[in-house]
Amino acid sequence: MRSLQSNLLAPAIQGGDRTALARAITLVESQLTSDRRDTEILFEQLLPVKGDSVRIGVTGVPGAGKSTLIEQLGIQALGMGYKVAVLTVDPSSQQSGGSILADKTRMTRLAGHPQAFVRPSPAGNARGGVATRTRECIYLCEAAGFDLVFVETVGVGQVELAVAGITDIVLLMLLPGGGDELQKMKSGVIESADFLLINKADREMRDVALSTASDYQQVFRLIRRPRGNDIVDVLAISALENQGLRDVLQKVIHLYQKRCESGELSSRREDQTKAWLWQSIKETLEESILGDLSDVGTGTMARLEKDVVDGRMTASVAARHFIDHCLEYRFGENR
Ligand code: GDP
Repeated sequence: MRSLQSNLLAPAIQGGDRTALARAITLVESQLTSDRRDTEILFEQLLPVKGDSVRIGVTGVPGAGKSTLIEQLGIQALGMGYKVAVLTVDPSSQQSGGSILADKTRMTRLAGHPQAFVRPSPAGNARGGVATRTRECIYLCEAAGFDLVFVETVGVGQVELAVAGITDIVLLMLLPGGGDELQKMKSGVIESADFLLINKADREMRDVALSTASDYQQVFRLIRRPRGNDIVDVLAISALENQGLRDVLQKVIHLYQKRCESGELSSRREDQTKAWLWQSIKETLEESILGDLSDVGTGTMARLEKDVVDGRMTASVAARHFIDHCLEYRFGENR
């Protein structure tokens, strides 16, 4: 995509053009140097965005019911006059080269609505971490005038933590009777959740779900939140049968408003943005110093690896040697 076209992209996005938005997201994900320059130009034109959307992270294991929930909440929100965007982050594509999410037919009712936008965002190997690219995509959705931006992630782990760092409110979805599930989660994920939704509280699983919810309520009463006084709200719901979801949406919007009024939202976003800056500095440093190691380092790396494995050198000394070598190689004459 040439710069001329990205010049036209910004006003189209600001006009709410979903095709332009989709193209901009493709640009953000691109690894081509020319596209990266175009992305920078695009953001120069779009920033600062108003930042008044509610950014909602939805996490949980595959099959927990995240997309069913988001579709139902999204449709409800559309009925209330909100514009709804959904970004799905799929780290599995990094390993498999394909996206689980993209392969599924997802949220078709929502995706077909003129006031909604649903976009699977395969993580691939594009530049930056998942969080960086998704954050840029959130900005794009805000620039296009979306009021609610859902960020859905697959799996529970690092990516969930990253998502908590780019959203305002986090919903963690669990299955009935899943005590083991909770055990396996990183504690940061649990601490970052604002709502714990025990899904599939219907049919034969209804009673199990209600008792799971009551167990979690006991546990979460004891967990301290990293900030604020809000306790984690535990709710048993059925995404499929649309039970309890009106309550969820109202509580999410209420919590958002409360955080806006108390100043917590702006300080949370400020912290997130600072963390993003430092993360970007690290990524840029890594990219510019290490870059594609095939040109600079394979021989040296193999030698140093052997030295460390054979116990002749500590890893930190080897790392220093390697960085010096890379710096010399990349910037030798300018050092
Ligand atoms: P995701 O992988 O977390 O996005 O989960 P999906 O939304 O794709 O749901 C996985 C499966 O669980 C699908 O077959 C859904 O129809 C089903 N499902 C989702 N929510 C519920 C629910 O509340 N009750 C029941 N019984 N099934 C559900």
